[in-house]
Amino acid sequence: MTRTLIRNATVVSVDPAIGNPGGTDILVEGDRIAAVGRNLAAAGAAVMDATHFIVTPGFVNAHIHTWEFPLRGIGAGWVSSRDYHGNMHQNLATRYTARDVRVSNLLGALNQIHHGTTTIMDWCHILKDAEMTDAAVDALEESGIRAVFGRGTVKPPITPDTTPYYRIPFPREEIHRLRTGRFASDDRLVTLAMAILGPDWGEYDVAVHDIRLAREYGLISSAHTYGRKGKRKVEDGMPRLAKEGLLGPDHNIAHGNCFSEDELAIVLDAGCTITSTCFTEMMNYEKPALLSRMLKYGGTPSIGTDCDPYFNSSMLWVTRHAFHHQRELDNRSLYAAGAWPAATHHATHPRDALYWATMGGAKALRLDGRIGSVTPGKQADLAMFDTQGMNLFAAAESGDPVHAVVMHAEAADVKNVMVAGRWVKRDGVLAYDSGRLAKLRDEVMAARLRMMREGNYVYRPAPNGPQPEYRV
Ligand SMILES: [Zn+2]
Repeated sequence: MTRTLIRNATVVSVDPAIGNPGGTDILVEGDRIAAVGRNLAAAGAAVMDATHFIVTPGFVNAHIHTWEFPLRGIGAGWVSSRDYHGNMHQNLATRYTARDVRVSNLLGALNQIHHGTTTIMDWCHILKDAEMTDAAVDALEESGIRAVFGRGTVKPPITPDTTPYYRIPFPREEIHRLRTGRFASDDRLVTLAMAILGPDWGEYDVAVHDIRLAREYGLISSAHTYGRKGKRKVEDGMPRLAKEGLLGPDHNIAHGNCFSEDELAIVLDAGCTITSTCFTEMMNYEKPALLSRMLKYGGTPSIGTDCDPYFNSSMLWVTRHAFHHQRELDNRSLYAAGAWPAATHHATHPRDALYWATMGGAKALRLDGRIGSVTPGKQADLAMFDTQGMNLFAAAESGDPVHAVVMHAEAADVKNVMVAGRWVKRDGVLAYDSGRLAKLRDEVMAARLRMMREGNYVYRPAPNGPQPEYRV
């Protein structure tokens, strides 16, 4: 068994029993954290001096469509989610081959590691068949990341001679194949979930079928909610599902911004988890991210990056943004109540956002017994931030390492990343063959250009006036 001693670090544990001690060692044995404490003895262990490092749990990105990686940078001018769906699902997504899915997921997952994320919920709704599914999973496994693979389905254009996607139940045979095949065990780095339409995107009977299917195979189901009121496929879907006993801790909801107070209480009371993706919600949703609004009903926020076409899918960014977003909401409510500024302290602190980005995500994926904090017995999923670089050297001296990480850190500060006891980024470089990485980059760029050409997609960044960025 390999043993690694990370010596003399500032540990941001996200574990209340451990706190954020300085001058602390982390002993990793095999894939687990064996001990956290001062002056640990570890004969024969490989020792890494971490005197100038802050070590946090690896970030948990609870909602990302990793397949979208090649289409980064094209979405900033899209007016609403209509443009996202028109350009992506009804056009560019239909151009993906299994090979495209593979290179997209591989580079997308490596990019997550680069930013200090060690676990992703890969909400993979690009899959037309088993070949594509296997390509997506192969890529996640090759990247070295921990992933919950959310096997999803496509949302192609609706034509008169085909059944619209919202009437199509999840393919049982595919889940059976996966669950009795490579995903027969949950004791592996990449595990299975079902990324389903849910009642906002599919018909009610489809939602019932899909949630029952997930439960039959012992899987989490996850569904998107709609960003505008009055657009859901089933307006009263959540209360109906709750009444039938179909909502529980095994159902994850992405967004939920438009839930009424009653709906929010119902889904959280049932034990569902909710993942906020503040950036895409800010772009496309009529209501703010839920975040702290979940707390009064016993929910724990989790956060994710969602869609690569819009912005850098870094959990460092989205965690910081979630904090700012919630702080702004807090301040606005205080102001509306005539009580701004807060008399003594803020309701939301950067440590809350870090919790959402680590333990919150772990809970949403039902992995909180294994990951999400630097706790002995848990999997050794760690991010190490170098506090000597230009960006962090002053911030790290502020006395609050959480503040330094959540408010200041960037990918360049993430020098080392470990997943299940294995270094996947070391000394600032991904543990992935550089020649092969260069080939993947070429392949992803070729795929991007081919898909845009085939989809007659015209990207025209115009600084002024109307921006006819796409034709479908
Ligand atoms: Zn999404």
